[in-house]
Amino acid sequence: MNTRIFKISPTTPKEKDITDAADILKSGGLVAFPTETVYGLGGDATDPDAAKKIYSAKGRPSDNPLIIHIATPEDAERYAYTTEIYYKLAKAFMPGPLTVILKKRNTVPETVTGGLDTVAVRCPAHPIAHELIARAGVAIAAPSANLSGSPSPTCGEHVISDMNGRIDAIIDGGECDIGLESTIVKPDGNSLILLRPGAITADALSCVCEKVVISEAVTEALKENERPLSPGMKYKHYAPSVPLTLLDGEDAKVLEFLKNSQKTEKCAILCYAEELSALLPERLIDIGKKDDLNTQASRLFAALRNTEALECDIIYAHLPKTQGIGLALYNRLIRAAAHTVKHIN
Ligand code: AMP
Ligand code: MG
Repeated sequence: MNTRIFKISPTTPKEKDITDAADILKSGGLVAFPTETVYGLGGDATDPDAAKKIYSAKGRPSDNPLIIHIATPEDAERYAYTTEIYYKLAKAFMPGPLTVILKKRNTVPETVTGGLDTVAVRCPAHPIAHELIARAGVAIAAPSANLSGSPSPTCGEHVISDMNGRIDAIIDGGECDIGLESTIVKPDGNSLILLRPGAITADALSCVCEKVVISEAVTEALKENERPLSPGMKYKHYAPSVPLTLLDGEDAKVLEFLKNSQKTEKCAILCYAEELSALLPERLIDIGKKDDLNTQASRLFAALRNTEALECDIIYAHLPKTQGIGLALYNRLIRAAAHTVKHIN
């Protein structure tokens, strides 16, 4: 398949390119597009065949449901049964990096929801995503635009490398601001279950809903045969081809460990900016300053992709603290590391 590439500036998008991309979606085709979290691989959310094409382009199991993307929070009415808490969340966080699980209407085919009677709804803030969805005139089902097994794409080049030749079009709109996938919540009575942490933190959610329960699958490994509330959690997430070990301990001791490891092993290191000068430059990836969790979040997936090109036997990264957006970093890293943590004393 010949994939059309639209290079679009988020600040001055060309009308014609967005209209062309929206027309592809309307006629049942697939278009990858930037959002503020990661790039999405979009298809018409009301078209069962579009969903099948998405699963096949990604090589993703079809019982892993897709998030549907809407242009305004009110558009959820067409696809789901909304609730009071949905509109409270929408008022506080939409458009933005929050996905809410709601009871689905029949307008959404079961191929999109992996057979579930609920649907995940998100209203992205990115100007290109917003325009594209609004012009398509329908909700857009979109998982992350990577091949199943790769990290989510955070810039146009990642999408082109995974999806060129597999889908109808790719909108390259530069780098994503946040770089980690949306926060997913499921309202349950008067509490909110946090299924996937993201840039909308548990603390921020608790300003809208007093009781926020963090699903065990966010930090813990699933037990055998356990069925998570969010089906995606049961899949092994991106794991680098070389094993990743997370280091837990006092900063000075971890740095000492890293220095020694560079002498004895062929290791790649995702290090803090402050550590660069103390370490040998080979196979070193700067993940951002220690306290700058937003930068670390925006660089993580590109850093993991970059390790694939490095010749090494092991990858080390710091075990993130779980405060704020740190919980989202922790969740992505602990899964990439298959829960391998080394405690440094
Ligand atoms: P991705 O599309 O790669 O961002 O992944 C979407 C995530 O949303 C997966 O982990 C899914 O399991 C989760 N998800 C989508 N729809 C639902 C739903 N109806 N209920 C629970 N989780 C969902
Ligand atoms: Mg994904």
